[in-house]
Amino acid sequence: MKRVDLHSHTTASDGTFTPEQSIARALANGLSAFAITDHDTVAAFPHAIEEGEKYNVEIVPGIEISSVYEGKDVHVLGYYMDYTDEKFLNRVEELRNVRNTRNQMIVDKLVSLGIPITMDEVRSRRTDKNGNIGRPHIAQVLVDKGVVASTQEAFDKYLSTSGAAYTNPPRITPAEAVQLILDAGGVPVLAHPGLYKNVELARELIGVGLKGIEVFHPDHGPEDEATYGSLADEYGLIKTGGSDFHGIRNGKVFHGDLGEKSVPKQTLNRIKELAGK
Ligand SMILES: [Zn+2]
Ligand SMILES: [Zn+2]
Repeated sequence: MKRVDLHSHTTASDGTFTPEQSIARALANGLSAFAITDHDTVAAFPHAIEEGEKYNVEIVPGIEISSVYEGKDVHVLGYYMDYTDEKFLNRVEELRNVRNTRNQMIVDKLVSLGIPITMDEVRSRRTDKNGNIGRPHIAQVLVDKGVVASTQEAFDKYLSTSGAAYTNPPRITPAEAVQLILDAGGVPVLAHPGLYKNVELARELIGVGLKGIEVFHPDHGPEDEATYGSLADEYGLIKTGGSDFHGIRNGKVFHGDLGEKSVPKQTLNRIKELAGK
C-alpha cells in the first residue's frame, strides 16, 4: 500500500523544487500522492495537478496559512479549497502582502544592527520569479555575505523567534485562517502543533471548525505524536502527517525528505470525503 505525504513546499513559496522535481522525487520515494502546501499561495495549481497526472502521482491541492497567536507563528494547513475562488485568492494575496511588509521590517532591523542588506538582494535569492520570499532567503543573503557561516546560524542569531532581527507584524489569527479555508470549501488542519506546545489553542480551533491535526511531522517527537494523536481521537479529527519538504538547499534536504513522514491512503480519503470530493 503506497503512502501519502500531506505537507510539502515548492518554488511557488520557499521550497527549492519545482512541482515537476517534487513529482520525480515522490516517485523515487515510493509515494502515490502528495500535497503541495505552499505558504500563503496556491500558485502551483492547477499546473502541478496536471503534471502529476502525466506521471500517475496524485497531487493534493493545499496551502499553509501563516497566522499569529499571542505573538507566535502558527501555521494552518488547508486541503481542497476552491483555488479559483476570487474571494479566497484576494484574501490570500492580502496575507502575502503582510509577508512582504514583514521581510522589509526584518531587513530594516538587520541594517540597524550594522549589517548591510537590501530587499533586492533578498529577492534575488528567490528560485522562482513568482515565488514567495521569506526568512530562508534572508538567511541565504547573510551566508553569502559572510555575516554568518550557515543558514542555521542566521536563524539562531537573527531570524528565529528569539533572534535579534525577528519581528512579527499583526496578521490573521489561527481561528480566522481556519474560517478562511472553510469558506473556500477546504479542510483545515493544524500544522505541526508540537512546535507551539499549546493544547488549549488546538482545542479552541477545534471549536471553530478544525477538521484535522498534523500528528506526524519531522519536528515531532514520540511525545508530540502521542499528545496530539489522542487529542485528535478525542474529537474524532483526522490525524494527518507530512515531511514539510522544502527541496534541497546547499546540497542538503531542507526539513524532511519527501515521504519521510506520511500517512496511509485512507487518511487522504477521509479528507476528500470532508471536502466533498
Ligand atoms: Zn509550517
Ligand atoms: Zn510547511
